[in-house]
Amino acid sequence: MASRFLLTFAICRLIVTVGLTLKPTELLRLGVEGQLTVDPSHVEAASRDFGGLHRVEPLAVLRPASANDVARLVRAAYESAEGFTVSARGHGHSINGQSQTSNGVVIDMSGGGGGCSGGTRRLKPAGPRVSEKERYVDAWGGELWIDVLRRTLEHGLAPLSWTDYLYLSVGGTLSNAGISGQAFNHGPQISNVHEVDVVTGKGELLTCSEEQNAELFHAVLGGLGQFGIITRARIALEPAPTMVRWIRVLYSNFSDFTHDQEYLISLHGKPASKKFDYVEGSVIVDEGLVNNWRSSFFSPSNPVKISSIGAANGGVLYCLEITRNYDESTAGSLDQEVEALMGKLNFIPASVFTTDVPYLDFLDRVHTAELKLRSKGLWEVPHPWLNLFVPKSRIADFDRGVFKGILGKKTSGPILIYPMNKNKWDERSSVVTPDEEVFYLVALLRSALDTGDETQTLEHLSNQNSQILRFCGDARMNVKQYMPHYTTQSEWVEHFGLGKWALFQQRKAEFDPKRILATGQRIFSPSF
Ligand code: FAD
Repeated sequence: MASRFLLTFAICRLIVTVGLTLKPTELLRLGVEGQLTVDPSHVEAASRDFGGLHRVEPLAVLRPASANDVARLVRAAYESAEGFTVSARGHGHSINGQSQTSNGVVIDMSGGGGGCSGGTRRLKPAGPRVSEKERYVDAWGGELWIDVLRRTLEHGLAPLSWTDYLYLSVGGTLSNAGISGQAFNHGPQISNVHEVDVVTGKGELLTCSEEQNAELFHAVLGGLGQFGIITRARIALEPAPTMVRWIRVLYSNFSDFTHDQEYLISLHGKPASKKFDYVEGSVIVDEGLVNNWRSSFFSPSNPVKISSIGAANGGVLYCLEITRNYDESTAGSLDQEVEALMGKLNFIPASVFTTDVPYLDFLDRVHTAELKLRSKGLWEVPHPWLNLFVPKSRIADFDRGVFKGILGKKTSGPILIYPMNKNKWDERSSVVTPDEEVFYLVALLRSALDTGDETQTLEHLSNQNSQILRFCGDARMNVKQYMPHYTTQSEWVEHFGLGKWALFQQRKAEFDPKRILATGQRIFSPSF
């Protein structure tokens, strides 16, 4: 009774606010099995994101029980004469309001803990479904990667490509790319998907793959939510290792550091015994929990004092982070293989930090850091993050101008830097990368704090981000933003480049002609 009242209230609010031409009875007849709600706590949650920089209230929130619910709502939005917008929200871990919408409905994809059974497209409480024989998992678009991992590990399998943090949704990361230290070897997550179910901006529910609805398949991967809502993804799996040897080494010389990173990712075609499974890195400018919350690894019991090495070399250090997966059958040759690889690297000899951890603990490492920050009230603060893809040919200029220049020896958060191989990315997807065979991710993952230190304020960090972007632009570095955020159409055109922009527009006209989806990305305005 109460939920029926709430539903009617939600519909009335939609009608009053956007002049929706559908009658309440017609919307009621949509017959969603989930919950269309205007409960203030649900609306408030959908109004915010991890960035904490924008707050936009939707008119209502749909917590779908199935892909059919998603399709019904989008169809209603598409068919109504006045129209309203629809934005999928994965886990709200965007920075700049990308999953928010002001005059429409947010679909809370992560709510309800649904799963999916491949054939029927209806959610089942059973969660992700694994095919051991064909080595794939079918996951609901709102499923968190941590839950996908837990389920696949029950079968001794795991996805090949990851993000550093697992409390992100499948549909959310696939709408960007999904990258971590495995990307040099396996490509981003979008290169490891066999098939997706998608609700287009017309409310059609379509299965897409290389063979079926291929244009939509490529469009939604890295598509920033512009072409459809991913309700199911079929993700490739491999046998899961049980353990990880996790190694960090330090460099004071940037060119030695990048030389070694590039060497390690050039081994991607070699047998598993002759390469690492994961290659990342970070810039260490200062210390402290907030500044290095991903680096809890350097515990006080470590024999080398990082600050002493840093002080001797102008304060900037570079940390290479590598791992090798193993299990009982490969443990015997591990030491020898790792030593052979390490022997080719030029790190500071006294700076080797090694630990062995279960595979799940390694993949879920950022959650451990999250809990630590939460306990100190340092998680729910504004995050003016900036993620850039920098071409290999300009990474040394970036180091000089940004790490050793603009940042002024103060990072205010972790800074990741690692290279990837462009040939592992599918050019047909919507994602944009620099035009070079090797490019780096540089992720400035900063937290704004109200501590009285003016270098940690939101204003200071935002200004610094603008300065960094200006510096890259002036130096014509052809840097591309990852999880891009722009406010004008000309910036979007420049981001995509003329050819890809034309394709992006064409795909938008075909799959979301009324431009009602994911308006929080600020690429297109709705046509109503
Ligand atoms: P949301 O932020 O909710 O949504 C992102 C966009 O996708 C929105 O436009 C939304 O409308 C759209 N969308 C959401 N779900 C769907 C769907 N089912 N179908 C279609 N469109 C959809 N990224 C990496 O690649 N690598 C990392 O290592 C990494 N680490 C991170 C660590 C932390 C602590 C955080 C906060 C983020 C990290 N990210 C990383 C970024 C992350 O990939 C993005 O935030 C991404 O947006 C996924 O978050 P989400 O699932 O919460 O999606």
